[in-house]
Amino acid sequence: MLIVMTHDATETQIDAVEAAVLAMGLRAEPIPGSLRTAIGVLGNQGYVDDTSIRELPGVREVIHVSKPYKLVSRDFHPEPTVVDVAGVLIGEGHRPVMMAGPCSIESEEQIHLAAAQVKKAGAHILRGGAFKPRTGPHSFQGLGVDGLKLLRQAADAVGLPVVTEVMRIDQLDAVCQCADMLQIGARNMQNFDLLKEVGKLDMPVLLKRGMSATIEEFLSAAEYLLAEGNGRVVLCERGIRTFEKTTRNTLDLSIVPLIHEMSHLPIIVDPSHATGKRSLVPVMSKAALVAGANGVMVEVHPDPAKALCDGAQSLTGDDFAAFMVELDRLVEFLEQ
Ligand code: PEP
Ligand code: MN
Repeated sequence: MLIVMTHDATETQIDAVEAAVLAMGLRAEPIPGSLRTAIGVLGNQGYVDDTSIRELPGVREVIHVSKPYKLVSRDFHPEPTVVDVAGVLIGEGHRPVMMAGPCSIESEEQIHLAAAQVKKAGAHILRGGAFKPRTGPHSFQGLGVDGLKLLRQAADAVGLPVVTEVMRIDQLDAVCQCADMLQIGARNMQNFDLLKEVGKLDMPVLLKRGMSATIEEFLSAAEYLLAEGNGRVVLCERGIRTFEKTTRNTLDLSIVPLIHEMSHLPIIVDPSHATGKRSLVPVMSKAALVAGANGVMVEVHPDPAKALCDGAQSLTGDDFAAFMVELDRLVEFLEQ
């Protein structure tokens, strides 16, 4: 439920409404706006009888929000959220952020080379998985804690922040020590226990869309993070599963403008996992930026033919450098 106050409502009237909400056993979250204040009501399990609230002085209207997500919605938070990842700002009004790096950390040499390549080409954040959610148990599972340390060293050597995936609650301490941003992967988007624990941290989170998740389920997963207090959330569209098998997944670009309508959270696009094909990554990255994405995440490997994971969708360092030149031109054009 959202209580909208009149534009001239006084502090005392706002306090009285909050007190009335608390007296009903619910939580009140004031949402100051440039034109008026609204008060979000949280904690109700179903419909709330609003008669006692509606009649209070200063109340203009009461809107019943029946969506399963509230804190992530534009209704509750009209201003766009900007997420700060070690000084890199992601969100409206800021240059689209480029996250790049290999699918997995494979060796000291590989991650240092990849870090140097993406930094030189102008990436803002280094990506790389140490804990890998692989479809089959016989595939490379990542270097674990050793990989995290190598990732941190490589990032520090070139001066980039790091985003890396955490799959389980018991990995959180180790990942938080090495990462500037936690990634929750597509396969864990609805790992509600993990979401709750990450929601208690003061760490930026990259929440990837589950491959079969509807937009409502995606936003509801983000709601878990905000409900625990962590509002530093960036969404990531990474393709969904459809009947089409020629691409790895189907990139659902319409989610980008839709998320901007429905939510205040930034959204980036990962065309590498969405398409599974190196040749499609540059053009779909551009399409993502045209659609309004706040950034792009792409896989880059110094030698994709030898990659232990996702080589077919990885750009080489040279590919990435050429792609960044094109992307910069597009960003300048879009900013005009
Ligand atoms: C990844 O980014 O490393 C990854 C595994 O992606 P997703 O969770 O989107 O499959
Ligand atoms: Mn990958």
